[in-house]
Amino acid sequence: MKTSQAFILKKTTYAEADYILSIFTKDFGKITALAKNAKKSTKRFGGRLEPFVLSRISFQDRPGRMHILQECETIKVFLRFMEDVELFTLGSFMIENIEILIPKEDPTEKTFQLFLNTLKALNTGKTILPEILKFQLSVLALSGFMPKLDSCTKCGKVVSQMAIFSIKKGGSLCQNCSSNKSNGYLLSRDFLINADSMQADTNMIFRYIDIFRKYTEYHTGKEIKSFKILKEIRK
Ligand SMILES: [Zn+2]
Repeated sequence: MKTSQAFILKKTTYAEADYILSIFTKDFGKITALAKNAKKSTKRFGGRLEPFVLSRISFQDRPGRMHILQECETIKVFLRFMEDVELFTLGSFMIENIEILIPKEDPTEKTFQLFLNTLKALNTGKTILPEILKFQLSVLALSGFMPKLDSCTKCGKVVSQMAIFSIKKGGSLCQNCSSNKSNGYLLSRDFLINADSMQADTNMIFRYIDIFRKYTEYHTGKEIKSFKILKEIRK
């Protein structure tokens, strides 16, 4: 039996009363586990098999097969994520980034801590969008998908503060290499590393989140579905 702090990322009904869960554990990375009879046995799992709840779980480790969840005990519920629809959608956006970018069974305590700290910050009312952008870029960096922003991806030249960002090329292009501007997005590195300017312009931050969302989808071949809902909410 193994135990760890964990977050439930996704819950799918299986058979009549079971759930298949994608779980992000602190000590073992992202795992998939079967919660047998969880729909009926509220005693063992309660109503805690939900996202945005820090839990302590025990599971039966079955290498090469789906693990079996034995127990799930609540440590902390991040209530605001369940009460505020925009925050819930942004939280789902963070979860999708983890689902898509972090490989299974690969312990990554830094990413776990990052997710926990971001939930804590947003739960206490910190300005939301800058935290989401920081989270998005950090997960890209921790998963090895970080785009090259400080130098030209084509010729290696250091780029000035404004550059053209190419999703296909996976980073910034210098003036010489970006003759066809229609193939990229204008991006300011200063803005990205300057937290103060981030606080000021939420539309700009949202635009950047969207660019890196497109970048992530292009390089993983997977869609981040919650973003569509996010766009609807912000209209
Ligand atoms: Zn160049």
